[in-house]
Amino acid sequence: MFKKVLIANRGEIALRIHRACKEMGIETVAVHSTADENSMVVRLADESVCIGPPAAKDSYLNIPAILTAAAITGAEAIHPGYGFLSENAEFARMVEEHGFAFIGPKPEHIESMGDKVVAKETVQTLGLPVVPGSAGALGSVEDAIATAEEWGLPVIIKAASGGGGKGMKVVRDIKDMAEAYSTARSEAKANFGDDTVYMEKFLEKPRHIEIQVFGDGKGGGIHLGERDCSIQRRHQKVVEEGPSPVLTDEEREYIGGVSADVVKKMQYRGAGTFEFLFEEGKFYFMEMNTRIQVEHPVTEMITGIDLVCEQIRIAAGEELTFKKDNIRLRGHSIEVRVNAENPRTFMPSPGMIKEYHPAGGLGIRMDSAIYKGYSIPPYYDSMVGKLIVHGRDRAECLRRLHRAIDETVIEGIETTLPLHKWIISQPEFISGDYTIHWLEQQLAKLDEADKAA
Ligand code: ADP
Repeated sequence: MFKKVLIANRGEIALRIHRACKEMGIETVAVHSTADENSMVVRLADESVCIGPPAAKDSYLNIPAILTAAAITGAEAIHPGYGFLSENAEFARMVEEHGFAFIGPKPEHIESMGDKVVAKETVQTLGLPVVPGSAGALGSVEDAIATAEEWGLPVIIKAASGGGGKGMKVVRDIKDMAEAYSTARSEAKANFGDDTVYMEKFLEKPRHIEIQVFGDGKGGGIHLGERDCSIQRRHQKVVEEGPSPVLTDEEREYIGGVSADVVKKMQYRGAGTFEFLFEEGKFYFMEMNTRIQVEHPVTEMITGIDLVCEQIRIAAGEELTFKKDNIRLRGHSIEVRVNAENPRTFMPSPGMIKEYHPAGGLGIRMDSAIYKGYSIPPYYDSMVGKLIVHGRDRAECLRRLHRAIDETVIEGIETTLPLHKWIISQPEFISGDYTIHWLEQQLAKLDEADKAA
């Protein structure tokens, strides 16, 4: 096992990785920008190294600075967390070339799955159902129009290198195609440095269901059930839960089984997630995330398995601590993302935390790196924590989540907790009857009502 791991990230996930390392007897190195010198992980880590100014491109994306920090501290492995460099194949390759272990997949898998056009082709060949759409990238606006006419409107244009819901355009009328095609390309170029776009049929009523997988890199592969992430805003997840309230046991076994098969055939290494849209009993692969995900605690709560520890074990060449036969999915878990934002306008609300009291008690977990007196810097993502709850069934889980939200005190900034309280009180959420478009539809209704009043 490694003696020392460098954590190439910030915020709650950096702290999460630190915690896993400590339980495994591993020393930690935190790297941080000048804006994060007072962060919790910097306080707790065994060592810390400043890697640059606030802008992520100069610090958390600064590969030479991170590799240098690993070299001077004598770290043996680097955990990239999520976001930042976690899905950068070039970084993974450089980490390995410099003699460190990369706590993540093989660079070639990050590369092939990072290009969504290649990813779709690859997994389709290996046996996963995909969303119907363009065969590969779109070559021209004429190509876009022809593809839309072939599959029927509406369609969605997506960036091949996309992520975080950026650079997607829904087209409902052919006359809007030329504009949507060129905006999607320029947004893709601006956000991801690659203007390759492709097209999918836009599904009107899907759920977002994803399967957590693990591979040993040598042809072993396993799945840990699903998470339902259908509560979204602007294609970004807001609430995640597992198991999905809509899957049958047969559907779960089918999609988990084919996902695990693909992991085996790829000889995939480490943690990964296959994301699917699910509509009328059918699954459609959208993309694979080759990293630990924000919502991984949902799976941890229902399996009792520490996914970050398992990632580290695999990277160190050890065996997973679980097998297919000893995974038990127990009870129900829901995670809500706590963002430093106004809960109605979603305007960012950075600032100083004046008071902080996380909820506690049986089945409650708050993954956050904030503390009283901490100032949330304005430079990074607005997510400041995740409240995760477990119960023996969905009803108990929901009651516990209400109680946990009521109990949580975060003063000095605005957070999205009131939004979550509202979401989980809605009849559609309680019955589990909603699609990925439900939240935006409800928010639009609230805005209308406000305007009318
Ligand atoms: P990203 O990598 O940016 O998160 P995804 O391909 O995972 O992009 O898509 C993100 C979200 O966009 C999905 O969860 C879903 O809400 C929506 N979406 C993507 N493709 C489609 C589609 N073909 N039909 C309907 N919604 C879609």
